[in-house]
This record gives sequence, C-alpha cells and structure tokens, in this order.
Amino acid sequence: MGESRRRAREGAWALATKSALVAALAMWVLMAEPVEWARAADPSSSPDRFDVVVLDAGHGGHDEGATGPSGLREKDLVLDVTRRLAERLERAGVGVILTRKNDRFLSLEERTAVANDAGADLFVSIHANAARSRRPSGIETYFASLEASDDQARETAERENLAFGSASPALEQADPLAAILGDLIATQHLQESSEFAKLAQRELAELSKASSRGVKQAPFVVLMGVQMPASLVEIGFLTNPEEEKGLRRKRHREAIARALEDAIAAFAARYDERRGVRQSGRSPDR
Ligand SMILES: [Zn+2]
Repeated sequence: MGESRRRAREGAWALATKSALVAALAMWVLMAEPVEWARAADPSSSPDRFDVVVLDAGHGGHDEGATGPSGLREKDLVLDVTRRLAERLERAGVGVILTRKNDRFLSLEERTAVANDAGADLFVSIHANAARSRRPSGIETYFASLEASDDQARETAERENLAFGSASPALEQADPLAAILGDLIATQHLQESSEFAKLAQRELAELSKASSRGVKQAPFVVLMGVQMPASLVEIGFLTNPEEEKGLRRKRHREAIARALEDAIAAFAARYDERRGVRQSGRSPDR
C-alpha cells in the first residue's frame, strides 16, 4: 500500500474513532434524560419545586487540587466551605446531597452520576483557584461550554479536569458531531446555569476585599454531563498569599457559605416562580 493511502486510511480511522466517541457521549447525554421524566411522573413528590441541591467539594484523596504558599490545600478548604454551606441550606429546609463528605477521591464521572441519580435541581461545584504568578486574586464563577471564554478560563478548566485523565474533553468545534453535542449541552440548562452563576458571582463579590473576576465559561468535565443547572465556583486564589491567609479564617469561610446560600435562595425563588410553584414560606435564616 502506498504511503499516502496508508496515511489517509489511518486518518479516516482516527476520525471514525473520535466520531464514535462523541456519538457515544451524545447518546449518554440523551439517555440520561429520562431521569427527569421519571421524577416528574412520580405524583408523590412535588416535581417542579426547587428542593434538592447537590454540592460538590472539588478534589479529595490523592487529588489535592491547588496548594497555597503556606500549605493550605484546596481539597481541605473546599470540603470545609461545602460542609458549612450544606449546614446552612439544611437549616433553611433545602435538601442537600454531597458528592463527598470526607477526604476521599471521587472521579468527575462519579460526581456527575451522584447529581443525576439524585435528580437534583442545582449542582454547585466548589473549588479554589491557582495561577502561575502569585498576583491574581478574586472570585470567578463558571458554567459549562465547549469554548472557553478566555485563555485563563481555559487553563482553569484544564487544571480542574486533570482528575478526568485528559487535559480537556476531546471535542473540537471543527467536528460536526461535537457541534451537535455542544448544542445539546448548550440548550438544556444553559440559561439557568448562567443565571445561577451570575447570582453566585454577585453575592460572592460583595464579600469584603473580594474582587470579582466575573462569570466565565469553559469546558469543565464535571459540569458537562450534569442534567440540571450547574455551576462551578472558584472561591479565591490559593496561590495569592493574602487570599490564602483570608481563606484560612473561619469567618471568611462562613461568609462565603452565606453568600452562596443567598445565591441559591434567590435562584430557588426564580426557579419556582418560572414553574408556577407557590412559595412555601421558606426563608434563609438571618
Ligand atoms: Zn479545583
């Protein structure tokens, strides 16, 4: 066989493999859909009311995430903040499911599965940021998209996707199947994910000293398979010595939890209103 023909065949094979992978992923997204239908068909539950949140503390176990200059580890920090938030939400009468309650490793796919099995109304993944320079600081909130909104957002997603085993999902805009899958992801819960991200970013930015870096989009694996509005919050830069110091303080962690609780309460009210659910008089305590 001629060299060029062999190369063409290899190229076609690589493309077919990749297309099959994307098609399988698309099927997985489509097949995961009946979870919501099954839940809606159950007359014993109140299917439309906002009542369950899945909180995902990033990393865990051998996956430590980012580490600050004085040694604060992302996996410990975000677990503590997540627990504080869970306590607050439970006190307010919201159902909370944690992807991890302790220091254990959980793959990104397992996190997604926990959320989808629960048929929850919102998925919030909590992380702390890192940069090569010590200078960057502040808060960012993300929702999923195939295209990163900027280079720094792409780097953040690549770092947070490391537990998936590859730098980023093998999806390219040039691939028509990937574009279809992108549309699927985009239309499903994009609007509500974006809405929650804005609420979270607004509440977190009000914290003293916290600078808002805005709402961004990037291909986070943990958000892409989730069949509900989903957002990932970077609660500050661990690599910034001042911010790391702040993130060590219990008061600051509690303030972050409260800001996220406020964002979830505001989102829940809008969520219920859109679905014609009457307010149950639930109110966050303060
Ligand atoms: Zn992280």
